[in-house]
Order: sequence, then structure tokens, then C-alpha cells
Amino acid sequence: MLNKILSQADTIAIGGHVRPDGDCVGSCMAMYCYIKENYKDKKVTVYLEEIPRPFEFLEGTESICHEIPEDKTYDLFICQDCGDKQRLGFAAPLFETAAHTFCIDHHISNESFAEENYVVPDASSTSELVYELFDKEKVSLSTAEALYLGIVHDTGVFQFSCAAPSTFRMAAELLEKGVDAPKLIRDTYYVKSYAQNQILARALMESILFLDGKGIVSSIRKSTMEFYGVTPKELDGIVNHLRNTRGVKVAVFMYELETNVYKVSMRSDDDVDVSKIARYYGGGGHKKAAGLTMAGTHYDIINNLSEQIELQLGGSL
Ligand code: 5GP
Ligand code: MN
Repeated sequence: MLNKILSQADTIAIGGHVRPDGDCVGSCMAMYCYIKENYKDKKVTVYLEEIPRPFEFLEGTESICHEIPEDKTYDLFICQDCGDKQRLGFAAPLFETAAHTFCIDHHISNESFAEENYVVPDASSTSELVYELFDKEKVSLSTAEALYLGIVHDTGVFQFSCAAPSTFRMAAELLEKGVDAPKLIRDTYYVKSYAQNQILARALMESILFLDGKGIVSSIRKSTMEFYGVTPKELDGIVNHLRNTRGVKVAVFMYELETNVYKVSMRSDDDVDVSKIARYYGGGGHKKAAGLTMAGTHYDIINNLSEQIELQLGGSL
């Protein structure tokens, strides 16, 4: 499939979602390295917003473009880990003007908006889907590292239910390519700055249970982020800590983007499909991990979300 799609293009742009996470960066850089190494006559460029610093060790990240050159068009735009066009952010015009488009994604909310679509909602990660498209013999250590980063981050280090036997098999094959898994996992997933740990502690300390302990919520104001000198992309992972509270079925973490506008992250177990709630408010994601942006005070937001969560919990409350 990939060979056929690439055969119609000399110039290729790769893009992912705004505020790129591990799977987005990993899958995009894997595709970049794979094309660069195996299709030497093609010109490939990655367009992503600023990536988290711990991911900068990946091959090629120094050449990521953060803005689009004027009048630039591509033969092919490959859109990865991105459920809709708007989520491409600044790179969306390149998608619009490309001669051909191809989307590889695992979001249940993805409505197959590209010309060719490879969308598998049950897949652990976009990185796993990207790996399936590759000729395994041609996967280098650089490509393997990027893919490993992607699966580690979207499976919470192989702990979420989306980690399937195929994910572990893929991880084993990537280890055989020479990936230093303990180092990669520690450096990119667990190690946090002192300020990040402090803000995590604060979020946990100020969290509030709702719906009789079945929900937990915490929010961080912009002024608090400024006080600790922490940026939004450094708040990743806080919602997972909240979810690890006994009895909790839905965890909600939000941080203020601007006055009374919040970015909301939700995590759930089997009883609640948070992607439905996210979509209801214009966001998206997966059954057990979804997000959205919402206007209002954090009280308004939690009241709205709580109502939707309660509807799904129904009789089990
Ligand atoms: P997170 O809570 O870690 O930001 O995101 C969880 C999942 O939901 C990710 O797969 C992410 O791509 C998706 N997601 C988060 N925020 C939004 C949003 O505003 N819109 C859409 N469509 N998806 C989102
Ligand atoms: Mn993903």
C-alpha cells in the first residue's frame, strides 16, 4: 500500500496533530526516516508544532518545519495521528493544496477525510499502523526508535488496554533492531523536571472527587503554570495519575489556555466512552482517552462534563 502511494509523489509532506505527543512525533519521524532512507530520490519534510524536548534525540527532529513556506505545494501529504483537518493546525493548508493525501490514524472520531485512509480505531497507536505499512527488513535503528517512542507513549508503557499481542510483537522486533528500551522509556516517559513534579503534586493535592467518587477532576490555571515556568506540553501524564485513584471511573484534567478557555483531557475505564463526550463538545479521541477545548470557568466545564458522564454511568451510580 505504502509503495503504491509513494510512487505517485516526488515531494512529500508529513504532518500530525497540534500539540504533538509521543505517538504523533514518533510516527511522523518514523515515516520521515523510512522514506529518507529507502526512497532516496524523494524529498520529504515534516511539519509539526514545537515538540517536547525529550523527543529531540530522534533522528531528523532538527529538520522539522514549524511554519509553512509561502506558495509551497506537495505531491503528497501524509497526515498521521490526526482525527480531522482542523487538528493539523498550521499545516492544514498543505493538506488542502497537496495533489494527493493519505491519512494513517487510530482515532475512533476519524471520519476518513483524506483521499486514501488507513484508520484502525482499535490499534494501540498510529506508530503501530505505520510499522505495519513498512517492509520490516528496511526498518533502521532510527526508524525503530521513533516507532518505539510512539507505542510506549500511547500505551502508557504497555499498560493500557489498547496494547495488544501485536503491539508486544512489534516492540520485540524493534528491540531486535537495537532500541535501548529502558533508556528511551525513562528519558522520554518517566523523567520530569522538578517544576513538572511540583505542578503534578499540586494537581493531585487540589483534585476533587465528584459523582460519589466515580469522577475526579483537577485544573491548573495559566498563572500557576507561569509561576512554575511550565508549558502545556509539560503537563502530559497528570491525567493518568488522577485516573489511578481507587474507585474512579473517569478522570478529568484541565489547564487554562487563556482566560476562561480550558484544554480538557479525559481518561476512563470500560464504563464510560469519553470520546463520545469529547465529540459532543467538539473534541475527539478514543473510548478511554479523549480531549477537547472548552470555554467557561472550570466549574462550568466540570458541571457540563459531569452531566454527560452521569448519563453514561446511568444506573451504576
Ligand atoms: P490528551 O488528553 O492526551 O490531550 O488526548 C487524548 C486523546 O484525545 C489523543 O488521542 C488526542 O489526539 C485526542 N484529543 C485531545 N484533544 C482533542 C481535541 O481537542 N480534538 C480532537 N479531535 N481530539 C483530541
Ligand atoms: Mn496516537
